[in-house]
Amino acid sequence: MIDRACISINNRCNLNCAYCHFHTPEKTKFLTETKMDIYTILDNIKQHIAHYDIQQFKLGFVGNGEVLLDYDALHSYIEYISDELADGRISAYTITNGTLVTEKMLQFFKAHKCSIGFSIDGLPEIHNKLRCNTHAEVLHGIELYYSVNRCFPSMNCTVGREILDRADDTIAFFEPFGSRITFSRMIGKEKISLKEFHNFLNKARQKLHVRTGGYDCTMYGGKCGAGMNNIFYANNKIYLCGNCVDLPAIAEAAAPLDSLSPHMPVFDRNTCYRENMNNCFQVLKEESK
Ligand code: SF4
Ligand code: SF4
Repeated sequence: MIDRACISINNRCNLNCAYCHFHTPEKTKFLTETKMDIYTILDNIKQHIAHYDIQQFKLGFVGNGEVLLDYDALHSYIEYISDELADGRISAYTITNGTLVTEKMLQFFKAHKCSIGFSIDGLPEIHNKLRCNTHAEVLHGIELYYSVNRCFPSMNCTVGREILDRADDTIAFFEPFGSRITFSRMIGKEKISLKEFHNFLNKARQKLHVRTGGYDCTMYGGKCGAGMNNIFYANNKIYLCGNCVDLPAIAEAAAPLDSLSPHMPVFDRNTCYRENMNNCFQVLKEESK
């Protein structure tokens, strides 16, 4: 049964991070600005919750871009589910690159129990190189969050080669905040191996509150949950996950959640389904030469 979904409310961003895999030439052609009726999606989710008496449906307003570029729309979507947020039936979150956040936005998220995480790659010299010199801006947003909530927000950090080389310093950077850190494995051209990533996570866990999932995603240190209980909305379609927008969609966005039954081959869920598919495509390409 589906009890988790992410909705990409836009496909645009005000940054151009060096490792962004959403806006690479290969992925960009799959990311269109097709209008998506998010109220219909939210209605479907509400019906699904009521039908199955789901106690907590986890909903991320996260996707292929910077969500706060479309804050007014996000504001309306959150208000639309405010009853479910208030009674805890929906647990909502979003993630920002931290450059556009204001106190007013943070007050609104707090009032509606929508959590907001910040993407920050630890040390300024690494973050600035990879994330468009925005370290100071993001820290300012994090301080603003503290002034509104009296605690630090959860943070997301992408682990690539530079961070592996400065693992202890990176962990020390996050330690004073005392908040939950989600590390994700860098993929794409500069990717690190799963083994390197897990070694880093094991080290980080000794000092930090690190988010680790079960059947969620190998990018976050869990197992691949593709095709299980989690879906991703973008481009007016439903995909297996946010990284699978270049694989065939599993349905149109307006499809009721009940009707979804992606046919998944058996595969090792300690590995990434999409990477497995890509490897298969490569082998088929080689064989057809
Ligand atoms: S902030 Fe996120 S979506 Fe925007 S360019 Fe950076 S990694 Fe990509
Ligand atoms: S297919 Fe890969 S990116 Fe998608 S959920 Fe599975 S492990 Fe994560």
